[in-house]
Amino acid sequence: MIDNREDETIDRNQAGEKDERRTGREESISDLLVIGDSVVTLNRSGEIIPRGAVLIRHGLIADVGPAERLQGEHPQARRMEAGGVIMPGLICAHMHLYSTMARGMALKDEPPADFVQILERLWWRLDRALQEEDILYSALVPLMDCIRHGTTAVIDHHASPGCIAGSLDILAEAVSQAGLRASLCYEVSDRGGPEEARAGIEENVRFLRRCRQEENPLLGASFGLHASFTLSDETLQRCVEQAAGLGSGFHLHVAEDAADVRDAREKYGKSTVRRLADLGILGPRTLAIHCVHVDGDDIEQLAETGTWVVHNPQSNCNNGVGVAPVLEMMARGVPVGLGSDGFTANMFDEIRTANILHKLDRHDPRVAYAEVPRMIFENNRRIAGLFFDQPLGVIEPGAAADIIALDYDPATPLGMGSFWGHLLFGLAGARVETTIVQGKILMHQGKLLGLDEAEICARSRRLAERLWERF
Ligand SMILES: [Zn+2]
Repeated sequence: MIDNREDETIDRNQAGEKDERRTGREESISDLLVIGDSVVTLNRSGEIIPRGAVLIRHGLIADVGPAERLQGEHPQARRMEAGGVIMPGLICAHMHLYSTMARGMALKDEPPADFVQILERLWWRLDRALQEEDILYSALVPLMDCIRHGTTAVIDHHASPGCIAGSLDILAEAVSQAGLRASLCYEVSDRGGPEEARAGIEENVRFLRRCRQEENPLLGASFGLHASFTLSDETLQRCVEQAAGLGSGFHLHVAEDAADVRDAREKYGKSTVRRLADLGILGPRTLAIHCVHVDGDDIEQLAETGTWVVHNPQSNCNNGVGVAPVLEMMARGVPVGLGSDGFTANMFDEIRTANILHKLDRHDPRVAYAEVPRMIFENNRRIAGLFFDQPLGVIEPGAAADIIALDYDPATPLGMGSFWGHLLFGLAGARVETTIVQGKILMHQGKLLGLDEAEICARSRRLAERLWERF
């Protein structure tokens, strides 16, 4: 159900800022009231408001409460009947936007038989083939998917060794066109020799400085590293020096496959985690992605240093690398978030996989029920806090207006105690109808408003065709 002023509402919303400046009116023109059958706030008390509304002003949530009260108090605000369930947009704590053009690509060699072969035969050939326009379009496609599936913020990890300098600006341009929120970094690696490693470091430093100067609330930055087994001590030491001056932590893959741990033990006589800890890579601003192959000592290191671990269950399944012991890590004080590793833009899928994977792995249907909501809601929100100033992942006054509305009519009572069950077995399969980021409507009634989907897909197909030829 949409307010009969719907078209006017949407048009005026997109122009809201400008109109507001022109008229000097504090309220009315730029205020937007989004109304739904239920508002799931995910605030500290887990409040769910039946027939609720969210008031958005200047990109932030100004108020939340019963629709009747908010409509009475803000009669001038434009109204949007979002229907269904309104909740905070989801955050993906580890993403590779560049992976789009691998979709459906045939490999001429034997199929890769293990993780290192997957890198050598697929990803390291694909990322090297990426040129400027490929980077732009391969990012726009998953960014559209993010909008469609209610993922409003992504922590990305980028690689394009054939086009390093300026690559993060191209990604930032795609993110800006899409209207999403993203933190970006470039993966430094020694796999292409010292020149490429140096260029990767420079790209991180340049983009971290750019973000600091611009203070764009939608853009964040980190210092990207590939993984221990492709990085020398010398390169890692240079990265530590550079990042320290910028107050940045790192975003890197850690012990994703046993090969990473074997490499560290053979070359340095210690585990991957221990090596990274000794070099000063770990810490409360660092995201250690995967951590599938970690032992008790490694878990202690991660907990002691306050390092974030990001779990990517679908990617781990797809690459056949193993099941990360994230439940044990959480029990021992390691903060764990949830990402997709570029496998999908749909975090609802990732949530569902995380929920069932550990039950199967442990042969115990009781596990993961408490841990997975902590990963996706509580911990991803805190991870986002490393890169963005405004609170995300919660509907409360002062938080960023990153909200989604799903076409979902609960068939059983929906309340604090039942929300997680609804999410796993109902909401996760429901259609996201509306996606709003920083108060801007990116999708309404299932239609993307700012991007020409057909044009982007058509151009992406042509670019992918050429890339597959080069590959
Ligand atoms: Zn990854």
